[in-house]
Amino acid sequence: MLASERREVREAAREFAEGEIAPCAAAWDRERAFDRRVLDRLAELGFLGMCVPEEYGGLGFDLETYVAVLEEIARADLAVALTVAVQNGPVSHLILAHGTRAQRTNWLPMLASGERIAAFALAEADAGSDPGALLTRAERTHEGAWRLDGSKRWVTNGSLADVAVVFAGTSPPGEGPGVGAFLVDTDAKGYRVAGREKTMGLRASETVAVELAGVRVGEDRLVGDAGSGLGYALEAVDVGRLGVAAQAVGVAQAALEHAVRYSRERRQFGRRIADFGAIRSKLATMATKVAASRALVAGVAAALGQSGTPTRDGLTAAASSAMAKLSASETAMWVTEEAVRIFGGYGFMREFPVEKLMRDAKGTEILGGTSEIMRLVVGRALTGVA
Ligand SMILES: Cc1cc2nc3c(=O)[nH]c(=O)nc-3n(C[C@H](O)[C@H](O)[C@H](O)COP(=O)(O)OP(=O)(O)OC[C@H]3O[C@@H](n4cnc5c(N)ncnc54)[C@H](O)[C@@H]3O)c2cc1C
Repeated sequence: MLASERREVREAAREFAEGEIAPCAAAWDRERAFDRRVLDRLAELGFLGMCVPEEYGGLGFDLETYVAVLEEIARADLAVALTVAVQNGPVSHLILAHGTRAQRTNWLPMLASGERIAAFALAEADAGSDPGALLTRAERTHEGAWRLDGSKRWVTNGSLADVAVVFAGTSPPGEGPGVGAFLVDTDAKGYRVAGREKTMGLRASETVAVELAGVRVGEDRLVGDAGSGLGYALEAVDVGRLGVAAQAVGVAQAALEHAVRYSRERRQFGRRIADFGAIRSKLATMATKVAASRALVAGVAAALGQSGTPTRDGLTAAASSAMAKLSASETAMWVTEEAVRIFGGYGFMREFPVEKLMRDAKGTEILGGTSEIMRLVVGRALTGVA
């Protein structure tokens, strides 16, 4: 896409997010749910199928345009942006990259149109940073279908989701680490949302635990090879991490804008606090960090091309997306904390916008992999030492 076209898409996303998401974000945070109708509006704009090729009903955007739109939505509300990102990023990517022709034809148009909302169920209570430790099992039944048993934790989109990509071990115990990726309808017998997490931030996003008790799915619900799901998950997570990075930039940008505005209004010692060099210096550092993270996210998005291929600087896709997430999420945390400081006592109050941004920013450091894991991925790519 041409830079001028990408600018227009970003502006359209910003206008929509400012008009229809931002005014409601504080209330949705208090109510712990966003209005489901916002997803219909996002679907109308095509934003639920941004990277899905046009032949499957998507917009066929490149990753640079995708991250620009995600940033704008997250600038208004991270909870809504996260739903958009899960739908577009890991789930659609997985089906596009590894699904059969029939799976692509069947599922991608439904995801792009918002007819089906998706979840990505990889993590478990004892398998977060180490997804290879997952205990959920998939066994082939006599009829040639699959039976899934186990439980998942921290599944974003919770009861909103119509379908979940569930990762489950496919090898008999003791016979290797095979993992399969299964498309499971959330109304399937044996699939149960076992409880909603009470989260610090991202409170309008439904993060849930899921139990799978003898859930039966046909062979047509297995994506790709029955033993390669973990590799697919990690690939999908690369795109997911880039998406989280873009969202972190949006949160940081929002905090910066609130802080600049407040510094011009708030008066102490008979002057605006923006008249104090210490405050201007803080704002300058915040703006610089936000711009640097945005540039890194855009650069990685441009360089990634096809997931899994080395990027231009010689780092793998995994290391590049990890770098982007590390930089952007830690920037978001730092910038939102500075914004709370600039707001003084009001920064700590629920009726001002920056404490929500600080709580949300924390989530970007964890979901999709923690900062420690991002450093581990980048360090391994640099040194070759696992
Ligand atoms: C809001 C939210 C939404 C989420 N949504 C989803 C979702 O939709 N789907 C999904 O599958 N998961 C989701 N997750 C789960 C998320 O991916 C995991 O929480 C994350 O990967 C960390 O795993 P953990 O919580 O088990 O922490 P642990 O892996 O137990 O880590 C605990 C601590 O140990 C550190 N640590 C672990 N291993 C190492 C190591 N090798 N070296 C150094 N330090 C290490 C970690 O960095 C962390 O500080 C979500 C999480 C949150 C908070």
